[in-house]
Amino acid sequence: KEKKPAEGRKHQNMKNDIKASQGQWGRAWEVDWFSLASILFLLMFAPLIVYYFIMSCAQYQCSLTDPLLDLLMGNKHLSDIWNSTPTLTYRAAVIYTLWVTFQVVLYLFIPDFCHKFLPGYVGGVQEGAVTPAGVVNKYEINGLQAWIITHVLWFASTSCFHFFSPTIIFDNWIPLLWCANILGYAVSTFAMIKGYFFPTNAKDCKFTGNFFYDYMMGIEFNPRIGKWFDFKLFFNGRPGIVAWTLINLSFAAKQQELYGQVTNSMILVNVLQGIYVLDFFWNEAWYLKTIDICHDHFGWYLGWGDCVWLPYLYTLQGLYLVYHPVQLSTAHAIGILILGLLGYYIFRMTNHQKDLFRRTNGNCRIWGKKPEYIECSYTSVDGTKYYSKLMTSGFWGWARHFNYTGDLAGSLAYCLACGFEHILPYFYIIYMTILLTHRCLRDEHRCSSKYGKDWKRYTAAVPYRLLPGIF
Ligand code: NDP
Repeated sequence: KEKKPAEGRKHQNMKNDIKASQGQWGRAWEVDWFSLASILFLLMFAPLIVYYFIMSCAQYQCSLTDPLLDLLMGNKHLSDIWNSTPTLTYRAAVIYTLWVTFQVVLYLFIPDFCHKFLPGYVGGVQEGAVTPAGVVNKYEINGLQAWIITHVLWFASTSCFHFFSPTIIFDNWIPLLWCANILGYAVSTFAMIKGYFFPTNAKDCKFTGNFFYDYMMGIEFNPRIGKWFDFKLFFNGRPGIVAWTLINLSFAAKQQELYGQVTNSMILVNVLQGIYVLDFFWNEAWYLKTIDICHDHFGWYLGWGDCVWLPYLYTLQGLYLVYHPVQLSTAHAIGILILGLLGYYIFRMTNHQKDLFRRTNGNCRIWGKKPEYIECSYTSVDGTKYYSKLMTSGFWGWARHFNYTGDLAGSLAYCLACGFEHILPYFYIIYMTILLTHRCLRDEHRCSSKYGKDWKRYTAAVPYRLLPGIF
Protein backbone atom coordinates (compact mmCIF):
# COMPACT_ATOMS: atom_id res chain seq x y z
CA LYS A 1 0.00 0.00 0.00
CA GLU A 2 1.16 3.43 -0.83
CA LYS A 3 1.51 5.54 2.29
CA LYS A 4 2.13 9.24 2.10
CA PRO A 5 2.81 10.25 5.73
CA ALA A 6 3.73 13.82 4.89
CA GLU A 7 0.23 14.32 3.61
CA GLY A 8 -1.29 12.61 6.63
CA ARG A 9 -1.76 15.67 8.86
CA LYS A 10 -2.89 17.77 5.94
CA HIS A 11 -5.73 15.38 5.37
CA GLN A 12 -6.82 15.29 9.00
CA ASN A 13 -9.23 18.08 8.49
CA MET A 14 -10.74 16.63 5.40
CA LYS A 15 -14.47 16.30 5.28
CA ASN A 16 -14.05 12.52 5.39
CA ASP A 17 -15.77 11.22 8.45
CA ILE A 18 -12.66 9.58 9.80
CA LYS A 19 -14.27 8.41 12.99
CA ALA A 20 -16.96 6.58 11.11
CA SER A 21 -14.49 4.77 8.90
CA GLN A 22 -12.35 3.80 11.91
CA GLY A 23 -15.40 2.42 13.63
CA GLN A 24 -16.33 0.22 10.69
CA TRP A 25 -12.89 -1.11 9.89
CA GLY A 26 -12.30 -4.61 11.22
CA ARG A 27 -15.01 -6.29 13.23
CA ALA A 28 -17.87 -4.31 14.79
CA TRP A 29 -17.65 -1.94 17.76
CA GLU A 30 -21.29 -2.35 18.59
CA VAL A 31 -23.35 -5.52 18.56
CA ASP A 32 -26.76 -5.65 16.91
CA TRP A 33 -29.29 -8.23 18.07
CA PHE A 34 -28.88 -10.40 14.95
CA SER A 35 -25.12 -10.73 15.42
CA LEU A 36 -25.61 -11.50 19.09
CA ALA A 37 -28.24 -14.14 18.38
CA SER A 38 -26.01 -15.76 15.73
CA ILE A 39 -23.08 -15.77 18.08
CA LEU A 40 -25.01 -17.32 20.94
CA PHE A 41 -26.35 -19.92 18.53
CA LEU A 42 -22.85 -20.81 17.33
CA LEU A 43 -21.33 -20.84 20.81
CA MET A 44 -24.03 -23.25 21.95
CA PHE A 45 -24.44 -25.41 18.88
CA ALA A 46 -21.17 -25.48 16.91
CA PRO A 47 -19.52 -27.98 19.32
CA LEU A 48 -22.70 -30.10 19.23
CA ILE A 49 -22.77 -30.02 15.42
CA VAL A 50 -19.19 -31.33 15.29
CA TYR A 51 -20.02 -34.02 17.85
CA TYR A 52 -23.19 -35.01 15.98
CA PHE A 53 -21.37 -35.49 12.67
CA ILE A 54 -18.53 -37.53 14.13
CA MET A 55 -20.84 -39.57 16.36
CA SER A 56 -23.21 -40.34 13.48
CA CYS A 57 -20.28 -41.80 11.54
CA ALA A 58 -19.03 -43.81 14.49
CA GLN A 59 -22.43 -45.11 15.60
CA TYR A 60 -24.75 -44.79 12.56
CA GLN A 61 -22.57 -45.35 9.48
CA CYS A 62 -22.64 -41.60 8.71
CA SER A 63 -26.42 -41.33 8.55
CA LEU A 64 -27.49 -37.92 9.85
CA THR A 65 -31.14 -38.87 10.17
CA ASP A 66 -30.90 -42.26 11.95
CA PRO A 67 -29.74 -40.86 15.32
CA LEU A 68 -32.66 -38.40 15.30
CA LEU A 69 -35.14 -41.10 14.29
CA ASP A 70 -33.83 -43.40 17.01
CA LEU A 71 -34.29 -40.65 19.58
CA LEU A 72 -37.71 -39.58 18.32
CA MET A 73 -39.04 -43.13 18.21
CA GLY A 74 -37.72 -43.84 21.66
CA ASN A 75 -35.38 -46.62 20.47
CA LYS A 76 -32.54 -44.83 22.18
CA HIS A 77 -32.03 -42.12 24.77
CA LEU A 78 -29.45 -39.37 24.59
CA SER A 79 -27.63 -41.14 27.41
CA ASP A 80 -27.33 -44.32 25.28
CA ILE A 81 -25.63 -42.39 22.51
CA TRP A 82 -23.44 -40.53 24.95
CA ASN A 83 -22.48 -43.72 26.81
CA SER A 84 -21.41 -45.35 23.54
CA THR A 85 -19.11 -42.40 22.76
CA PRO A 86 -15.42 -42.98 23.55
CA THR A 87 -14.15 -40.77 26.35
CA LEU A 88 -10.95 -38.78 26.61
CA THR A 89 -8.06 -41.24 26.95
CA TYR A 90 -4.55 -40.89 28.30
CA ARG A 91 -3.20 -42.12 24.95
CA ALA A 92 -5.09 -39.43 22.99
CA ALA A 93 -3.96 -36.74 25.43
CA VAL A 94 -0.32 -37.78 24.96
CA ILE A 95 -0.64 -37.92 21.15
CA TYR A 96 -2.32 -34.51 21.01
CA THR A 97 0.12 -32.84 23.40
CA LEU A 98 3.10 -34.19 21.46
CA TRP A 99 1.49 -33.09 18.20
CA VAL A 100 0.84 -29.50 19.26
CA THR A 101 4.21 -29.19 21.01
CA PHE A 102 5.95 -30.47 17.90
CA GLN A 103 4.15 -27.92 15.74
CA VAL A 104 5.09 -25.12 18.16
CA VAL A 105 8.74 -26.21 17.97
CA LEU A 106 8.66 -26.27 14.16
CA TYR A 107 6.97 -22.87 14.08
CA LEU A 108 9.12 -21.09 16.63
CA PHE A 109 12.56 -22.64 16.53
CA ILE A 110 13.30 -23.67 12.95
CA PRO A 111 13.77 -20.63 10.72
CA ASP A 112 12.70 -21.20 7.14
CA PHE A 113 15.23 -22.75 4.79
CA CYS A 114 12.79 -23.67 1.96
CA HIS A 115 12.98 -20.21 0.39
CA LYS A 116 16.73 -20.68 0.00
CA PHE A 117 16.39 -23.51 -2.51
CA LEU A 118 12.79 -23.48 -3.83
CA PRO A 119 12.56 -21.02 -6.73
CA GLY A 120 9.50 -18.76 -6.49
CA TYR A 121 8.69 -19.68 -2.90
CA VAL A 122 8.40 -16.74 -0.50
CA GLY A 123 9.38 -17.72 3.05
CA GLY A 124 11.42 -16.44 5.99
CA VAL A 125 10.66 -13.14 7.64
CA GLN A 126 7.79 -11.32 5.91
CA GLU A 127 5.66 -8.30 6.71
CA GLY A 128 1.90 -8.38 7.22
CA ALA A 129 -0.54 -5.66 6.13
CA VAL A 130 -0.82 -2.38 8.01
CA THR A 131 -3.23 -2.77 10.97
CA PRO A 132 -5.95 -0.20 11.81
CA ALA A 133 -3.52 1.27 14.39
CA GLY A 134 -0.88 1.61 11.69
CA VAL A 135 1.34 -1.26 12.88
CA VAL A 136 3.11 -3.58 10.42
CA ASN A 137 3.85 -6.96 12.02
CA LYS A 138 6.68 -9.26 11.01
CA TYR A 139 6.06 -13.00 10.61
CA GLU A 140 8.40 -15.98 10.22
CA ILE A 141 6.91 -17.84 7.26
CA ASN A 142 7.96 -21.47 7.64
CA GLY A 143 4.71 -23.40 7.19
CA LEU A 144 5.80 -25.26 4.08
CA GLN A 145 8.88 -26.46 5.90
CA ALA A 146 6.79 -27.55 8.91
CA TRP A 147 4.45 -29.45 6.55
CA ILE A 148 7.35 -31.19 4.77
CA ILE A 149 9.17 -32.17 7.98
CA THR A 150 5.95 -33.42 9.56
CA HIS A 151 5.05 -35.55 6.54
CA VAL A 152 8.55 -36.98 6.10
CA LEU A 153 8.54 -37.97 9.79
CA TRP A 154 5.03 -39.41 9.41
CA PHE A 155 6.07 -41.66 6.51
CA ALA A 156 9.30 -42.65 8.27
CA SER A 157 7.46 -43.48 11.52
CA THR A 158 4.56 -45.36 9.94
CA SER A 159 6.17 -47.06 6.94
CA CYS A 160 9.91 -47.44 7.65
CA PHE A 161 10.29 -47.74 11.42
CA HIS A 162 6.74 -48.81 12.27
CA PHE A 163 6.70 -46.72 15.46
CA PHE A 164 2.93 -46.45 15.13
CA SER A 165 0.20 -47.41 12.70
CA PRO A 166 -0.91 -44.85 10.06
CA THR A 167 -4.46 -45.49 11.28
CA ILE A 168 -3.52 -43.89 14.63
CA ILE A 169 -5.57 -40.75 13.91
CA PHE A 170 -8.69 -42.61 12.83
CA ASP A 171 -8.38 -45.04 15.76
CA ASN A 172 -8.31 -42.18 18.28
CA TRP A 173 -10.63 -39.83 16.39
CA ILE A 174 -13.19 -39.16 19.13
CA PRO A 175 -10.77 -39.06 22.10
CA LEU A 176 -8.70 -36.60 20.03
CA LEU A 177 -11.85 -34.52 19.53
CA TRP A 178 -12.00 -33.92 23.29
CA CYS A 179 -8.34 -32.86 23.31
CA ALA A 180 -8.91 -30.46 20.39
CA ASN A 181 -11.87 -28.95 22.25
CA ILE A 182 -9.81 -28.45 25.39
CA LEU A 183 -7.13 -26.62 23.41
CA GLY A 184 -9.72 -24.63 21.43
CA TYR A 185 -11.49 -23.36 24.55
CA ALA A 186 -8.22 -22.82 26.44
CA VAL A 187 -6.68 -20.69 23.71
CA SER A 188 -9.85 -18.63 23.14
CA THR A 189 -10.23 -17.98 26.87
CA PHE A 190 -6.57 -17.10 27.19
CA ALA A 191 -6.86 -14.72 24.22
CA MET A 192 -9.78 -12.95 25.89
CA ILE A 193 -7.97 -12.55 29.23
CA LYS A 194 -4.88 -11.40 27.40
CA GLY A 195 -6.91 -8.82 25.47
CA TYR A 196 -8.11 -7.31 28.75
CA PHE A 197 -4.95 -7.46 30.83
CA PHE A 198 -1.86 -7.65 28.65
CA PRO A 199 -2.62 -7.00 24.98
CA THR A 200 0.19 -7.04 22.46
CA ASN A 201 -1.04 -3.78 20.97
CA ALA A 202 -3.72 -1.95 22.95
CA LYS A 203 -4.59 0.33 20.04
CA ASP A 204 -5.57 -2.66 17.90
CA CYS A 205 -8.03 -4.03 20.49
CA LYS A 206 -11.80 -3.75 20.19
CA PHE A 207 -14.26 -4.02 23.09
CA THR A 208 -18.00 -4.07 22.54
CA GLY A 209 -18.76 -4.55 26.22
CA ASN A 210 -20.73 -7.65 25.27
CA PHE A 211 -18.96 -10.64 26.81
CA PHE A 212 -20.22 -13.22 24.29
CA TYR A 213 -19.45 -11.11 21.25
CA ASP A 214 -15.97 -10.27 22.49
CA TYR A 215 -15.29 -13.90 23.35
CA MET A 216 -16.46 -15.11 19.96
CA MET A 217 -15.06 -12.45 17.63
CA GLY A 218 -11.98 -11.63 19.70
CA ILE A 219 -10.60 -8.51 21.29
CA GLU A 220 -7.01 -8.42 20.14
CA PHE A 221 -6.22 -8.03 16.50
CA ASN A 222 -2.86 -9.77 16.50
CA PRO A 223 -2.20 -11.40 19.87
CA ARG A 224 1.37 -12.56 20.29
CA ILE A 225 3.57 -14.13 22.93
CA GLY A 226 7.07 -12.75 22.67
CA LYS A 227 8.21 -11.39 19.36
CA TRP A 228 7.32 -14.31 17.09
CA PHE A 229 4.52 -16.50 18.47
CA ASP A 230 1.58 -15.10 16.54
CA PHE A 231 -1.71 -16.72 17.55
CA LYS A 232 -3.48 -16.15 14.25
CA LEU A 233 -0.74 -17.48 12.00
CA PHE A 234 -0.03 -20.47 14.24
CA PHE A 235 -3.57 -21.61 14.93
CA ASN A 236 -4.85 -20.92 11.43
CA GLY A 237 -2.13 -22.89 9.71
CA ARG A 238 -0.81 -25.35 12.23
CA PRO A 239 -1.87 -27.56 13.94
CA GLY A 240 -5.13 -27.74 11.91
CA ILE A 241 -4.05 -27.43 8.28
CA VAL A 242 -0.81 -29.43 8.64
CA ALA A 243 -2.98 -32.13 10.23
CA TRP A 244 -5.54 -32.05 7.39
CA THR A 245 -3.42 -34.13 4.97
CA LEU A 246 -2.26 -36.49 7.75
CA ILE A 247 -5.87 -37.08 8.77
CA ASN A 248 -6.78 -37.95 5.18
CA LEU A 249 -3.79 -40.30 4.93
CA SER A 250 -4.89 -41.98 8.13
CA PHE A 251 -8.40 -42.47 6.71
CA ALA A 252 -6.90 -43.97 3.53
CA ALA A 253 -4.80 -46.33 5.66
CA LYS A 254 -7.94 -47.39 7.53
CA GLN A 255 -9.68 -48.20 4.26
CA GLN A 256 -6.70 -50.34 3.28
CA GLU A 257 -6.80 -52.13 6.64
CA LEU A 258 -10.57 -52.75 6.53
CA TYR A 259 -11.11 -53.57 2.85
CA GLY A 260 -7.66 -54.46 1.54
CA GLN A 261 -7.70 -51.57 -0.93
CA VAL A 262 -7.89 -47.79 -1.17
CA THR A 263 -10.76 -46.65 -3.41
CA ASN A 264 -10.30 -44.14 -6.24
CA SER A 265 -12.68 -41.74 -4.43
CA MET A 266 -10.39 -41.76 -1.38
CA ILE A 267 -7.38 -41.13 -3.62
CA LEU A 268 -9.22 -38.22 -5.27
CA VAL A 269 -10.10 -36.67 -1.90
CA ASN A 270 -6.51 -37.08 -0.71
CA VAL A 271 -5.05 -35.60 -3.90
CA LEU A 272 -7.45 -32.65 -4.33
CA GLN A 273 -7.39 -31.65 -0.66
CA GLY A 274 -3.62 -32.25 -0.61
CA ILE A 275 -3.23 -29.72 -3.46
CA TYR A 276 -5.34 -27.22 -1.49
CA VAL A 277 -3.25 -27.68 1.66
CA LEU A 278 0.07 -27.48 -0.17
CA ASP A 279 -1.16 -24.39 -1.97
CA PHE A 280 -1.94 -22.82 1.38
CA PHE A 281 1.59 -23.37 2.66
CA TRP A 282 3.27 -22.47 -0.62
CA ASN A 283 1.40 -19.16 -0.44
CA GLU A 284 1.62 -18.64 3.31
CA ALA A 285 3.19 -15.19 2.81
CA TRP A 286 0.22 -14.23 0.63
CA TYR A 287 -2.07 -15.49 3.35
CA LEU A 288 -0.81 -12.63 5.55
CA LYS A 289 -2.83 -10.34 3.30
CA THR A 290 -6.12 -12.28 3.53
CA ILE A 291 -9.14 -11.32 5.63
CA ASP A 292 -8.29 -13.72 8.48
CA ILE A 293 -5.03 -11.95 9.18
CA CYS A 294 -5.84 -8.46 7.90
CA HIS A 295 -9.26 -7.92 9.44
CA ASP A 296 -10.46 -10.59 11.89
CA HIS A 297 -9.69 -10.34 15.58
CA PHE A 298 -8.56 -13.47 17.40
CA GLY A 299 -11.32 -15.04 19.48
CA TRP A 300 -13.25 -18.29 19.72
CA TYR A 301 -14.25 -18.04 16.06
CA LEU A 302 -10.63 -18.46 14.98
CA GLY A 303 -9.18 -20.22 18.07
CA TRP A 304 -11.77 -22.95 18.56
CA GLY A 305 -12.60 -22.99 14.85
CA ASP A 306 -9.00 -23.78 13.89
CA CYS A 307 -8.56 -26.43 16.58
CA VAL A 308 -11.89 -28.25 16.21
CA TRP A 309 -14.13 -27.14 13.35
CA LEU A 310 -11.50 -27.22 10.63
CA PRO A 311 -9.77 -30.57 11.29
CA TYR A 312 -13.03 -32.37 12.09
CA LEU A 313 -15.46 -31.01 9.53
CA TYR A 314 -13.15 -30.29 6.59
CA THR A 315 -12.12 -33.95 6.60
CA LEU A 316 -15.63 -35.46 6.61
CA GLN A 317 -15.29 -36.84 3.07
CA GLY A 318 -12.32 -39.03 4.03
CA LEU A 319 -14.08 -40.17 7.20
CA TYR A 320 -17.22 -40.98 5.24
CA LEU A 321 -15.24 -43.04 2.75
CA VAL A 322 -13.89 -45.22 5.57
CA TYR A 323 -17.47 -46.25 6.35
CA HIS A 324 -18.65 -46.22 2.71
CA PRO A 325 -15.80 -47.17 0.38
CA VAL A 326 -17.07 -45.71 -2.91
CA GLN A 327 -15.36 -46.94 -6.08
CA LEU A 328 -16.21 -44.47 -8.86
CA SER A 329 -16.52 -45.28 -12.55
CA THR A 330 -13.58 -43.95 -14.55
CA ALA A 331 -15.76 -41.29 -16.23
CA HIS A 332 -17.14 -40.09 -12.87
CA ALA A 333 -13.63 -39.99 -11.36
CA ILE A 334 -12.20 -38.04 -14.32
CA GLY A 335 -15.13 -35.59 -14.21
CA ILE A 336 -14.48 -34.92 -10.52
CA LEU A 337 -10.76 -34.55 -11.10
CA ILE A 338 -11.40 -31.99 -13.85
CA LEU A 339 -13.88 -30.04 -11.71
CA GLY A 340 -11.49 -30.08 -8.73
CA LEU A 341 -8.51 -28.94 -10.81
CA LEU A 342 -10.54 -26.27 -12.62
CA GLY A 343 -11.86 -24.93 -9.30
CA TYR A 344 -8.34 -24.90 -7.93
CA TYR A 345 -7.02 -23.12 -11.05
CA ILE A 346 -9.64 -20.35 -10.79
CA PHE A 347 -9.07 -20.02 -7.03
CA ARG A 348 -5.30 -19.79 -7.42
CA MET A 349 -5.21 -17.57 -10.50
CA THR A 350 -7.71 -15.09 -9.04
CA ASN A 351 -5.76 -14.84 -5.81
CA HIS A 352 -2.51 -14.62 -7.76
CA GLN A 353 -3.82 -11.80 -9.96
CA LYS A 354 -4.74 -9.68 -6.95
CA ASP A 355 -1.48 -10.47 -5.19
CA LEU A 356 0.59 -9.57 -8.27
CA PHE A 357 -1.43 -6.42 -8.83
CA ARG A 358 -1.04 -5.24 -5.24
CA ARG A 359 2.65 -6.19 -4.96
CA THR A 360 3.58 -4.29 -8.11
CA ASN A 361 1.17 -1.46 -7.41
CA GLY A 362 -0.52 -2.14 -10.73
CA ASN A 363 2.71 -2.28 -12.74
CA CYS A 364 2.16 -5.77 -14.10
CA ARG A 365 0.34 -7.58 -16.88
CA ILE A 366 -2.94 -9.43 -16.36
CA TRP A 367 -3.92 -11.69 -19.24
CA GLY A 368 -1.28 -9.98 -21.35
CA LYS A 369 -2.53 -6.42 -20.77
CA LYS A 370 -1.87 -3.61 -18.33
CA PRO A 371 -4.53 -3.97 -15.61
CA GLU A 372 -7.35 -1.49 -15.22
CA TYR A 373 -8.23 -0.27 -11.75
CA ILE A 374 -10.08 2.25 -9.59
CA GLU A 375 -7.96 4.57 -7.45
CA CYS A 376 -9.20 4.74 -3.85
CA SER A 377 -8.22 6.10 -0.45
CA TYR A 378 -8.91 5.41 3.24
CA THR A 379 -7.87 6.71 6.63
CA SER A 380 -6.30 4.81 9.59
CA VAL A 381 -6.89 5.37 13.33
CA ASP A 382 -4.16 8.01 13.64
CA GLY A 383 -5.72 10.01 10.82
CA THR A 384 -3.12 9.13 8.20
CA LYS A 385 -4.51 8.91 4.72
CA TYR A 386 -3.53 5.89 2.61
CA TYR A 387 -4.02 5.20 -1.07
CA SER A 388 -4.94 1.92 -2.66
CA LYS A 389 -6.22 0.45 -5.93
CA LEU A 390 -9.05 -1.92 -6.78
CA MET A 391 -8.41 -3.93 -9.92
CA THR A 392 -11.13 -4.37 -12.52
CA SER A 393 -9.16 -6.62 -14.91
CA GLY A 394 -8.72 -10.40 -15.21
CA PHE A 395 -10.96 -12.54 -12.99
CA TRP A 396 -11.51 -9.43 -10.84
CA GLY A 397 -13.36 -7.89 -13.77
CA TRP A 398 -15.68 -10.93 -14.00
CA ALA A 399 -16.89 -10.79 -10.41
CA ARG A 400 -15.83 -9.14 -7.16
CA HIS A 401 -14.98 -12.48 -5.48
CA PHE A 402 -14.30 -14.96 -8.25
CA ASN A 403 -11.65 -16.55 -6.00
CA TYR A 404 -14.53 -17.75 -3.78
CA THR A 405 -16.29 -19.18 -6.85
CA GLY A 406 -13.20 -21.26 -7.69
CA ASP A 407 -12.93 -22.38 -4.07
CA LEU A 408 -16.58 -23.48 -4.15
CA ALA A 409 -16.12 -25.46 -7.38
CA GLY A 410 -13.15 -27.30 -5.81
CA SER A 411 -15.14 -27.94 -2.63
CA LEU A 412 -18.00 -29.41 -4.64
CA ALA A 413 -15.57 -31.83 -6.30
CA TYR A 414 -14.51 -33.32 -2.92
CA CYS A 415 -18.16 -33.91 -2.04
CA LEU A 416 -19.11 -35.42 -5.40
CA ALA A 417 -16.30 -37.97 -4.95
CA CYS A 418 -18.40 -39.54 -2.18
CA GLY A 419 -21.36 -40.48 -4.40
CA PHE A 420 -24.97 -39.63 -3.68
CA GLU A 421 -26.00 -42.03 -0.92
CA HIS A 422 -25.68 -39.69 2.07
CA ILE A 423 -25.87 -35.96 2.75
CA LEU A 424 -23.03 -35.95 5.32
CA PRO A 425 -20.12 -35.55 2.87
CA TYR A 426 -22.02 -32.64 1.27
CA PHE A 427 -21.86 -30.70 4.49
CA TYR A 428 -18.61 -29.15 3.27
CA ILE A 429 -20.03 -27.51 0.15
CA ILE A 430 -23.13 -26.32 2.04
CA TYR A 431 -20.96 -24.86 4.78
CA MET A 432 -18.46 -23.29 2.35
CA THR A 433 -21.29 -21.69 0.37
CA ILE A 434 -22.66 -20.11 3.56
CA LEU A 435 -19.18 -19.18 4.83
CA LEU A 436 -17.97 -17.60 1.61
CA THR A 437 -21.24 -15.81 0.82
CA HIS A 438 -21.30 -14.40 4.34
CA ARG A 439 -17.61 -13.55 4.06
CA CYS A 440 -18.22 -11.83 0.76
CA LEU A 441 -21.01 -9.68 2.25
CA ARG A 442 -18.93 -8.99 5.38
CA ASP A 443 -15.93 -7.98 3.28
CA GLU A 444 -18.01 -5.77 1.04
CA HIS A 445 -19.59 -4.04 4.01
CA ARG A 446 -16.14 -3.33 5.39
CA CYS A 447 -14.71 -2.22 2.04
CA SER A 448 -17.67 0.05 1.52
CA SER A 449 -17.04 1.70 4.91
CA LYS A 450 -13.34 1.82 4.25
CA TYR A 451 -13.37 3.25 0.73
CA GLY A 452 -16.72 5.07 0.74
CA LYS A 453 -17.61 6.55 -2.67
CA ASP A 454 -14.60 4.87 -4.30
CA TRP A 455 -16.15 1.51 -3.44
CA LYS A 456 -19.37 2.59 -5.16
CA ARG A 457 -17.42 3.36 -8.32
CA TYR A 458 -15.85 -0.10 -8.10
CA THR A 459 -19.17 -1.95 -7.67
CA ALA A 460 -20.57 -0.02 -10.63
CA ALA A 461 -17.61 -1.22 -12.72
CA VAL A 462 -17.85 -4.85 -11.47
CA PRO A 463 -21.52 -5.38 -10.60
CA TYR A 464 -21.54 -9.10 -9.64
CA ARG A 465 -20.17 -10.75 -6.52
CA LEU A 466 -19.64 -14.44 -7.25
CA LEU A 467 -21.27 -15.44 -10.54
CA PRO A 468 -21.31 -13.00 -13.48
CA GLY A 469 -24.90 -12.28 -14.48
CA ILE A 470 -26.41 -14.13 -11.49
CA PHE A 471 -25.19 -12.95 -8.08
P1 NDP B 1 -9.81 -11.89 -0.71
O1 NDP B 1 -8.49 -12.47 -1.03
O2 NDP B 1 -10.80 -11.82 -1.82
O3 NDP B 1 -9.52 -10.46 -0.10
C1 NDP B 1 -10.50 -9.46 -0.01
C2 NDP B 1 -9.76 -8.16 0.11
O4 NDP B 1 -9.06 -7.89 -1.10
C3 NDP B 1 -10.68 -6.97 0.31
O5 NDP B 1 -10.97 -6.80 1.68
C4 NDP B 1 -9.83 -5.85 -0.23
O6 NDP B 1 -8.84 -5.57 0.75
C5 NDP B 1 -9.08 -6.50 -1.38
N1 NDP B 1 -9.76 -6.37 -2.66
C6 NDP B 1 -11.07 -6.57 -2.92
N2 NDP B 1 -11.32 -6.37 -4.22
C7 NDP B 1 -10.14 -6.05 -4.79
C8 NDP B 1 -9.76 -5.72 -6.12
N3 NDP B 1 -10.64 -5.69 -7.11
N4 NDP B 1 -8.46 -5.44 -6.37
C9 NDP B 1 -7.55 -5.47 -5.38
N5 NDP B 1 -7.86 -5.77 -4.09
C10 NDP B 1 -9.14 -6.06 -3.81
O7 NDP B 1 -10.57 -12.61 0.45
P2 NDP B 1 -10.18 -13.64 1.60
O8 NDP B 1 -9.04 -13.13 2.37
O9 NDP B 1 -11.44 -13.93 2.31
O10 NDP B 1 -9.84 -14.97 0.82
C11 NDP B 1 -8.61 -15.41 0.38
C12 NDP B 1 -8.78 -16.81 -0.20
O11 NDP B 1 -8.91 -17.74 0.88
C13 NDP B 1 -10.00 -16.95 -1.07
O12 NDP B 1 -9.65 -17.59 -2.26
C14 NDP B 1 -10.94 -17.82 -0.29
O13 NDP B 1 -11.67 -18.66 -1.15
C15 NDP B 1 -10.01 -18.59 0.63
N6 NDP B 1 -10.63 -18.94 1.91
C16 NDP B 1 -10.80 -20.24 2.25
C17 NDP B 1 -11.40 -20.59 3.45
C18 NDP B 1 -11.55 -22.00 3.84
O14 NDP B 1 -12.00 -22.23 4.96
N7 NDP B 1 -11.23 -22.96 2.99
C19 NDP B 1 -11.86 -19.58 4.39
C20 NDP B 1 -11.64 -18.24 3.94
C21 NDP B 1 -11.04 -17.95 2.75
P3 NDP B 1 -8.16 -4.14 0.95
O15 NDP B 1 -8.73 -3.65 2.23
O16 NDP B 1 -6.71 -4.43 1.03
O17 NDP B 1 -8.53 -3.30 -0.24
